Amino acid sequence: MNAVDFRTGRPVRLTCAGGRITALEPLPGGAAGLPVLLPPLVDIQVNGYASVDFQRDNCTAAELERAIERLAQAACGRILLTLITARWETMLARLRHYQALRAASPRLRRRIAGWHLEGPFMSPKPGFHGAHPPEHMVAPTAERLRELKAIVGDEPTLLTLAPEWPEAPGAIRVARSLGFHVWLGHTDATAEQIAAAVDAGAEGYTHLGNGCPGEIHRHDNIIFRVLDEPRLRASLIADRIHISPVLFRLMHQVLGPARICYTTDAMAAAGAGPGTYDLAGMKVEVGADGIVRQPGKSNYAGSSLAPIEGIRRAAAMLRASPVDVWPYFSTQPAAFVGLPPALTVGAPADYCLLQSEAKGTRIEIHLVGEPAREVVWQET
Ligand SMILES: [Zn+2]
Repeated sequence: MNAVDFRTGRPVRLTCAGGRITALEPLPGGAAGLPVLLPPLVDIQVNGYASVDFQRDNCTAAELERAIERLAQAACGRILLTLITARWETMLARLRHYQALRAASPRLRRRIAGWHLEGPFMSPKPGFHGAHPPEHMVAPTAERLRELKAIVGDEPTLLTLAPEWPEAPGAIRVARSLGFHVWLGHTDATAEQIAAAVDAGAEGYTHLGNGCPGEIHRHDNIIFRVLDEPRLRASLIADRIHISPVLFRLMHQVLGPARICYTTDAMAAAGAGPGTYDLAGMKVEVGADGIVRQPGKSNYAGSSLAPIEGIRRAAAMLRASPVDVWPYFSTQPAAFVGLPPALTVGAPADYCLLQSEAKGTRIEIHLVGEPAREVVWQET
């Protein structure tokens, strides 16, 4: 397989055997006409997909495999399976259940790279808790973090928490010492609380621009406070709905390319079309516009975005090429949460090939254990 390496722009020959990459060698000659070789997408916040809600107690292996299969069809090779706020004991029980499903399935082990607990250590404040039930928000404590560690062991685990809990700085230090990644989110923390959290080891901010009220103070708000903290990375929901194109572009300007990753924050409606879906026991509606809402409320409740569609929308918002934005949804999130790099010798034979043609863009998706798949974007 000859292609242009997305990292260098130079021609390479990719050789795979036994489900692994066995060689990736420079190829003499020019790049003209060759497709671009890209790693599959990595989504660090997936709450459900293809009508399957992960926020339930009884998700079956077949359902989880269906969600994973459909994510793979959307070029997503690895996810952090995300649990949103529920009773702490319920969250831990769900986590144990998903671990057991994953342990029994090579496919799930390949594609579920780890876990993201979005809550319950977040803000119960109106407007900031979003679709999370505020009554289940609790303080982060060393005891709870050790309970979590006993379940996940060394599996990559990301926590999203609000640093205004008085216990937060100490808990963040404990979480980091246990090997967890800590990002902030669903918070109305002060600049001082944010700085203290970063001093304690917080590394990022979850879905910046969301998890806050629709109307906020024009001079001092959580988005500005986070953008003013140069040590934080941020995930952005690249669906053009959760963040307007102008704010999306501004965030890229302020954060710079090294501090951004994309996520879908997908829930069950993603990859499944308009209709009514479950999200953690709530009924949510997805309109023809793809917007996910709790009936009667204006806040968004997760997205219906397919990962590969996030690439297309981000590229359009930034007026850039899909190849230019691809690292934001692959190498960067993987690096941010400590996942092994893709497209290296010895790594799984997972890759995508993007070919720009006169009529549009063609993306071939090759993932171990999944049928090859093609996504075509016609030029409009
Ligand atoms: Zn959220």
